[in-house]
Amino acid sequence: MALWFEESASPAHRLKWKITQQLFSGKSRYQHIQVLDTEQFGPSLVLDGIMQTTSGDEFIYHEMLALVPLTAHPHPETVLIIGGGDGGLAREVLKYPAVKQVTLVEIDRMVVEVSRRYLPTHTVALDDPRLTLVEEDGSLFLDNASEGQFDVILVDSTDPEGNGPGTVLYTPEFHNKLYRALKPDGIYVQQTGAPFYNPEVVSMVTEDVIKKFSLCRVYWCTVPTYPGALFTFTAGSKKYDPIHPVQDVAWETRWYTRKVHEMSFTLPPYVAHLLPKPIQDAQS
Ligand code: SAM
Repeated sequence: MALWFEESASPAHRLKWKITQQLFSGKSRYQHIQVLDTEQFGPSLVLDGIMQTTSGDEFIYHEMLALVPLTAHPHPETVLIIGGGDGGLAREVLKYPAVKQVTLVEIDRMVVEVSRRYLPTHTVALDDPRLTLVEEDGSLFLDNASEGQFDVILVDSTDPEGNGPGTVLYTPEFHNKLYRALKPDGIYVQQTGAPFYNPEVVSMVTEDVIKKFSLCRVYWCTVPTYPGALFTFTAGSKKYDPIHPVQDVAWETRWYTRKVHEMSFTLPPYVAHLLPKPIQDAQS
C-alpha cells in the first residue's frame, strides 16, 4: 500500500506526494517538523503540514531568492537571512564571492538540527566561517540590530498563516525595522507566496513596502512543489533597481541566468493587478 503526504493548497485543491518513508517527525516550541523521503523529490521538509522545501526542486527558489538581489547590488558584503533554517538559501548566498558576512536568524533550532541530519545538500554551507547562526525571532533580532548594518536582507520564512511564527514578518512594524537595519543603498527581498491562492499576501506587502522604499518590485519563478504554479518575491530597494543585474554569476546554476532574472519581473496581468499602480507601471 503506497504512502502519500497530502497538503491543502485551498479547501478545494490538494497536492499529494508519494513517500517511501517518514524520516523524522517531532514537535518544537514553534511547529510540527517532518522530513519525508518523497519518491519524486527526495528528502523534503514539512512544517505544520505545509511543504517547505524539497531536495529535488529547492534550487529554483533558493537561486532566485539569493541571486536577484545579490547581482543587483554592486557590493553585497553583509547579508542578513531571516528564516531559512534548512540552509538552502545560505548555501546560495555564500557562493557569491563579494559576500563577506552572513547572519542567519532562525527562530527554531530544531529545524536547523533536523536539516543538518536529513537534508545534507541544503546544509553544506552551514559551517562556512563567514556564517553566524542566531536562534531568535527575526523581528526581535532587528530590535537590537545597528542602523544601516546590512547591504542585503532576505526573508525566507514560513507563510503568514494565522499565529504561526512567520506572520510577524509580514507587518509594517517589521518592514520599518528592516528598513532601518539596511544601509542607505540596501536591498531586501521576502517570499510573498503564490498569488493564485493567496493574492492578499503580495498585495499587503507591496502596499506597505512601496511607502517605505524608493523602489518596490515583484518577481516570480515556478516551483513544482509550491501550489499555484507561480511563486512571487517582493523586493524593496533604497537605491539600485532589482530588475537590473550589475554583476554576472560565474558559476553553474540550474535556474538563474541574467535573462531569467530580467524576465522574472515581467508579470502576467492577474499578478500585476494585485499590485499598487506605480509597480504595475514600472514593470509593464
Ligand atoms: N522556502 C520556504 C518557503 O518558501 O516557505 C521557507 C523554508 S524555511 C524552513 C522557513 C523557516 O522560517 C522555518 O525554519 C521557520 O522556523 C522560520 N521562521 C518562521 N518565522 C520566523 C521568525 N519570526 N523569525 C525567524 N525564523 C522564522
